[in-house]
Amino acid sequence: MTEVLSAPLVVEFPFTRSLGPVQSAFLTGLREQTVLGVRTGDGRVLVPPVEYDPVTSAELRELVEVGAAGTVTTWAWNPDPSRNQPLTTPFAWVLVRLDGADTAILHALDANGPDAVRTGMRVRIRWAGERVGAITDIACFEPDDGTEPEESAATPHTGEFADPVTGIVAPARLDYVYSPGRAQSRYLAALEDSKMIGERCPSCRKVYIPPRGACPTCGVATEEQVEVGPGGTVTTFCIVNIKARGLDIEVPYVYAHIALDGADLALHGRIGGIRYDQVRMGMRVEPVWSDGGGFPDHYRPTGEPDAGYDTYKEMV
Ligand SMILES: [Zn+2]
Repeated sequence: MTEVLSAPLVVEFPFTRSLGPVQSAFLTGLREQTVLGVRTGDGRVLVPPVEYDPVTSAELRELVEVGAAGTVTTWAWNPDPSRNQPLTTPFAWVLVRLDGADTAILHALDANGPDAVRTGMRVRIRWAGERVGAITDIACFEPDDGTEPEESAATPHTGEFADPVTGIVAPARLDYVYSPGRAQSRYLAALEDSKMIGERCPSCRKVYIPPRGACPTCGVATEEQVEVGPGGTVTTFCIVNIKARGLDIEVPYVYAHIALDGADLALHGRIGGIRYDQVRMGMRVEPVWSDGGGFPDHYRPTGEPDAGYDTYKEMV
């Protein structure tokens, strides 16, 4: 029985977007402690505002200011806040219909416990001390018992502010634990011994590496393990001129598709031990293993004569 492997993986990047006139007004308004919604053709007020009517798709531009207090329409207790959530202590996720709005905004409610939260309770915005024109300018909501809804809270607003916010950078991050299946686990175990193990499709007889447990062409399960390489042929390549953060590799360098001997699918690897402008299609290479096994650090030329195009043209 192969040991079940797992590894934490993080995919993270900053997402930069420009704001249209509606989102720009909304976020700039938050900076000024003003909450703006947008009025639809049938007179409803949507908060947060959107650029187009969700029912008719008509363009919406009629901004209105709504209250900074509202009513909880539903909620869920969050006993264990995770990274980058609005509060570090347990809190309630709440949908709040601000006074003057017809829709509810999702945010966090700072409350002592689930017993302190109920649908219909009155809450108000707790503004962030330092506001920059972002949804986080609302630090959270807090209980505001005793106040009554302001029925006439929605008032026309031009949406014009000095120095408006025109764009935001939203950090996107996905943390997850990855467990490879049977085929990949065998592949990874073999890498520890500096071996490359692919799997052969029982139908088309092609050998795939890294193996995925099924033939990507035929869709049938693969079982037969085949050791491929270590030699291989560069089928195509690109020259990388951008230095990646966290990678200690001098640019320019070459990243190539490499068809390992015996495999029918090229895999990726960096080419080292040769000037970037000397790398060519058909060049014969072999892996250079990192200390302690794992993936090859890079591939280097073997010095053999180049492979003929016909031997790898199906894998370019
Ligand atoms: Zn197949």
